[in-house]
Amino acid sequence: MIAATSLSGQPQALPWQQALADAISDPAELCAVLGLDPALVAPAFAAAREFPLRVPRGYVARMRRADPRDPLLLQVLPGAEELAPAADFTADPVGDLDSSAAPGVLHKYAGRALVVATGACAVHCRYCFRRHFPYSEQSALRHGWQPALARLRADPSIQEVILSGGDPLSLSDRRLAQLTDELQTIRHVRRLRIHTRYPVVLPERVDAGLLKWLARVPLQKVVVIHANHANEIDAQVQRACAELATAGATLLNQSVLLAGVNDSVATLAQLSESLFAARVLPYYLHLLDKVQGAAHFDVDERRALDLHRQLTARLPGYLVPRLVREIAGAPAKMAIEAW
Ligand code: SF4
Repeated sequence: MIAATSLSGQPQALPWQQALADAISDPAELCAVLGLDPALVAPAFAAAREFPLRVPRGYVARMRRADPRDPLLLQVLPGAEELAPAADFTADPVGDLDSSAAPGVLHKYAGRALVVATGACAVHCRYCFRRHFPYSEQSALRHGWQPALARLRADPSIQEVILSGGDPLSLSDRRLAQLTDELQTIRHVRRLRIHTRYPVVLPERVDAGLLKWLARVPLQKVVVIHANHANEIDAQVQRACAELATAGATLLNQSVLLAGVNDSVATLAQLSESLFAARVLPYYLHLLDKVQGAAHFDVDERRALDLHRQLTARLPGYLVPRLVREIAGAPAKMAIEAW
């Protein structure tokens, strides 16, 4: 990321909107910045036609140079594997569209409803289960919030609203406040959960304005971040998490078990340790949702269970995330346990 210079001569972080606009979207530029083999560029362009490349420069700065197996690079660099057909891998692997309760509201589980606040993200994760999601029809903001709010108001069983997307922190503080000002008038809504990758991939987003907004939301607040590897967690990420915690949020992490990225016990243990050092509890380790274009990240269930067993033997219980799979139509995330 380009840094401005303060009067004291110290580099200053750019405002988050500028850092977001400055994200890399050209595979040739990403390969050049990292000193990667130019042969990676053509397949990356081909795969990016299906799902574009987007990665903030601050996240790129945490990658190793000239290493095509870098675990952060693998999460974001489009590749030819994405275009190979794979049986059982579909456009909507978790049944999102069948659970649509109103424009921008998915209702799968008792007591909770998920608001698809926006389709925009700071980063495009190649394994994303919503990489084919029709955001133009299904975003709550595009419908002016009101149909989504009406649905939430009409169902007294909904105690928790989950802001998701896309990434809800792509919205401005003003838009977020518009939404939460309305949510807090719904008597049965007690908790606000925010699913976001911003604190990890673009921690500049956690600025004074966002913290002020969050601190004044009177609901109980849970922020679920998304990190898959300890190399993602640097001092800026630690700062962002600490400030979110100080603003009153309980911090959890969800990660996805990804072949080549984090499918070893040492890597998973280090991730849990780094998360806890940043005041974040490891919550879920998801098996990959079988979305078209991501088959090369799949780790089979037997191996996942073996890794999880070894992790359990190595760490205190509070550092062991629950190993789960989402099954379309199931009443909850399904824990993967010994057979
Ligand atoms: S940030 Fe989340 S929603 Fe956005 S591409 Fe990554 S996994 Fe998908």
